[in-house]
Amino acid sequence: MQAAFRTFVRLPQAIGRRLQSTLVIAEHDNNNLTPITLNALSAAKKLGGDVSCLVAGSNCGSVVAELSKAAGISKILVADSEAFVGFLPERLAPLVTATQNQFKFTHIVAGASAQGKSLLPRVAAKLDVSPISDIIEVKAADTFVRTIYAGNALMTLKSKDPVKVITVRGTSFEAASVEGGSAAQENVAAGNLPTDLSQFLGQELSKSDRPELTAAKTVISGGRGMKNGENFEMLYSLADKLNAAVGASRAAVDAGFVPNDMQIGQTGKIVAPELYIAVGISGAIQHLAGMKDSKTIVAINKDPEAPIFQLHHDKGEDRTHTLMWWPHCCVIPNVRTEHTHSCGGCTAASHWM
Ligand SMILES: Cc1cc2nc3c(=O)[nH]c(=O)nc-3n(C[C@H](O)[C@H](O)[C@H](O)COP(=O)(O)OP(=O)(O)OC[C@H]3O[C@@H](n4cnc5c(N)ncnc54)[C@H](O)[C@@H]3O)c2cc1C
Repeated sequence: MQAAFRTFVRLPQAIGRRLQSTLVIAEHDNNNLTPITLNALSAAKKLGGDVSCLVAGSNCGSVVAELSKAAGISKILVADSEAFVGFLPERLAPLVTATQNQFKFTHIVAGASAQGKSLLPRVAAKLDVSPISDIIEVKAADTFVRTIYAGNALMTLKSKDPVKVITVRGTSFEAASVEGGSAAQENVAAGNLPTDLSQFLGQELSKSDRPELTAAKTVISGGRGMKNGENFEMLYSLADKLNAAVGASRAAVDAGFVPNDMQIGQTGKIVAPELYIAVGISGAIQHLAGMKDSKTIVAINKDPEAPIFQLHHDKGEDRTHTLMWWPHCCVIPNVRTEHTHSCGGCTAASHWM
């Protein structure tokens, strides 16, 4: 009797899950997937139901091959056309909308990257629904958690829209593995795309042998306290020794010390590496919004009252923080300073690496 009741209760949920279907927009450079796609894929799997991926690009066959190995994808929709050179959102948005009209997904998901942020609001507007941006947790198929007030508060929202158009914070979801799957492929027509709105002329990408900022296990960031761009050389050579990526605060970017693709924070990139070393960064909330989920944070600052040193009190005992006063120590993990922090919270040994 009890078993029958349980089945009765679970059946509608199971049917609901089956009726759900999610489209994940793959981000890539025509050769390789961008890591955030795999985080978005994990979020999509949490929604339940079928997961399909859209790969739009030009000569993007290797990306399709890579993605088809990921487990849990039922279908890969491919739009391979010269029209998508440069991944212009003015052309991708009509493609996603047409794909949606054809397949009637219940959710459309992309990473909260520059591409996702420029594409999905357009798609949401065309579908007349509200975009749900930068989620950090899936509570249910219609209920999500996202940060507000530059990360100072969490909001749980329930969407009543028929189609949920969602961007996903990459650092909040594990990357799905790209093995064990064999998804079917299906071509989707590029259709009549607007070619008069914008045109891709070219791009100059910064080349670096260092790991990509949002995927690096160690990130070293410099702020206004670095004083100038030349001093960033110290961070670059340290990064090369630690196999780290180099980031920056907005003040350092605005001052012209470094290019703006290095900016971390609310209006820059969000990172959550194993180790984050902040050099000459005060820890404004807009900067913290981009790095405060890092596992271990090392702050080097001549000002013991800098707000970045408050971070450890907000986070409890589960993380390690090393606090350093410039120029008293060299910057390597596991170093211990001779200096103690003035607040009571840091006298506990667990706060030291
Ligand atoms: C809407 C909005 C969005 C924003 N988005 C971002 C964002 O995405 N990312 C971001 O970073 N900021 C952002 N900001 C800016 C943010 O408010 C801060 O202005 C910025 O983060 C400050 O950068 P900073 O810590 O490098 O500079 P400062 O706040 O000036 O701090 C410099 C630090 O260097 C220390 N210092 C100086 N000399 C030395 C030395 N010799 N040795 C050691 N330490 C030294 C100082 O003690 C100080 O703590 C945003 C602001 C707004 C309004």
